[in-house]
Amino acid sequence: MDQVEIIANSTENSAGVAKQDCGKKCPWGSTSYVSVPCSLTDVMSEELAKELQKEEEITAFQNVVVVDEMPFVTGDNIDTSSDMVLAQMLQMEYDREFDAQLKREEKKFNGDSKVTVSFENYRKLQPFDSDSSEDEVDWQDTRHDPYKADKPSATPKKGFTGKGKDITTKHDEVVCGRKNTARMENFAPEFQVGDGLGMDLKLSNHVFNALKQYSYNEQRRSARLHEKKEHSTAEKAVDPKTRLLLYKMVNAGILESVTGCISEGKESVVFYAKGGKMEDKVVPEECAIKVFKTTLNEFKNRDKYIKDDYRFKERFSKLNPRKVIRMWAEKEMHNLTRMQQAGILCPEVVILKKHVLVMSFIGKDQVPAPKLKDVKLSREDMKQAYYQVLYMMQQLYHECNLVHADLSEYNLLWHDGKVWLIDVSQSVEPTHPYGLQFLFRDCTNVSQFFQKSGVMETLNERELFNAVSNLNITADNEVDFIAEIETLQKVNEDHTQLHGKKTAEFHSDSGDPPIIDE
Ligand code: ADP
Ligand code: MN
Repeated sequence: MDQVEIIANSTENSAGVAKQDCGKKCPWGSTSYVSVPCSLTDVMSEELAKELQKEEEITAFQNVVVVDEMPFVTGDNIDTSSDMVLAQMLQMEYDREFDAQLKREEKKFNGDSKVTVSFENYRKLQPFDSDSSEDEVDWQDTRHDPYKADKPSATPKKGFTGKGKDITTKHDEVVCGRKNTARMENFAPEFQVGDGLGMDLKLSNHVFNALKQYSYNEQRRSARLHEKKEHSTAEKAVDPKTRLLLYKMVNAGILESVTGCISEGKESVVFYAKGGKMEDKVVPEECAIKVFKTTLNEFKNRDKYIKDDYRFKERFSKLNPRKVIRMWAEKEMHNLTRMQQAGILCPEVVILKKHVLVMSFIGKDQVPAPKLKDVKLSREDMKQAYYQVLYMMQQLYHECNLVHADLSEYNLLWHDGKVWLIDVSQSVEPTHPYGLQFLFRDCTNVSQFFQKSGVMETLNERELFNAVSNLNITADNEVDFIAEIETLQKVNEDHTQLHGKKTAEFHSDSGDPPIIDE
């Protein structure tokens, strides 16, 4: 973890632009995505969105570009560009130390006595985001079901790993005092710490904590002042809360470092990370982190996918928008898990925290696998790719009981001579009120792409639809075909309304689907 390489991949944006922007605005490398008002159908079409970005896609996906020396998030080198986050991190770390010390003193004080005095009221540690009441789902393992309230929230055993090693020096007043003074350097830049840093000043824990608290409060105050401004740029960067989540993952050792940005879309940003360790699970060496954007605008348009998905119906109505976004991440996790179980090639879920999904990286040596639309394949490989996709769609439908709902050459990656399926947050079950329509759209995309790519064997979209669903719709033109699909869906919906309640309850109670850890 000593040397951290910063990479930014130019999958979706020009490297040059990223580099330029980096110096001025955001350390992550931003894209100059322009949002254009459009219809619901258009918003659903990733293709169209990507078309709009086409002009900005200058270089090919393979390029890995070194950007500024600014680290993203690493265990031992914290990015200081967001003061509030820094303050929160410090706050968390020191308060934890304080509380540990308090506990020891409480123990010493009480000894074996039957009557004990609790020091509880002197504890410093507050949950770092206790100010946001809706964030009750915190640093807990959410692989099973992040929204199940009855699950006891487990604090990570490791906590601030590494720090405990020098625990003896913590009690040494002089060493500790010096350390505290040095730590003041990490306060926000605008916080005047005087010239004590150059002297042999020894700050007691008490004074240091008071100063730290003051610095923290000051930053919060100034952050509030700047909040408006920040919100307008939040689209482009990762907001402080997300960074804190990422930092915590690094701190807990799950990730070793989070470095470059692989892609930025309307609804999510994907980062590259080096895997670390988890107690009960192998973390892949290379990871991709999909951060679902907490700017709500885009997601409003996607209600259609989730609102009618009975798996999420119960919960949807009770949720605020922030939670709905977490639900997208949760949905992606569940769907990926189902696919994994069926043996479909797709990213493997590592962990989910709120709106941040960590999965295995599809690619090698920091170079993400190219999308099918970008890769030049031989005739034979393209044909193989087609059959793989066909089989994958069948598996997805029959074994996972899912329709991708955004399937196209943009969400199929070519890796290791095979096709890998990604981006399944919007995937729904075939019985979803629009499930079959989504499937037909998927079939249209797939069929058109492979036809264009010269695969002679390509079925047309209607044949493909039947081959995937086994529904044997006989209409020989698109209009009639879609009409039949709609009739089928209507029948299904009536059926669900009759029997639906039971199903919905069953699913929301059981936490769909079971997630396997190992
Ligand atoms: P969206 O299209 O909604 O922005 P995706 O899940 O499609 O989100 O991710 C965006 C891009 O990030 C993908 O096109 C792909 O290039 C890259 N990507 C996503 N997940 C991975 C992964 N696990 N490994 C490698 N690259 C990935
Ligand atoms: Mn995508």
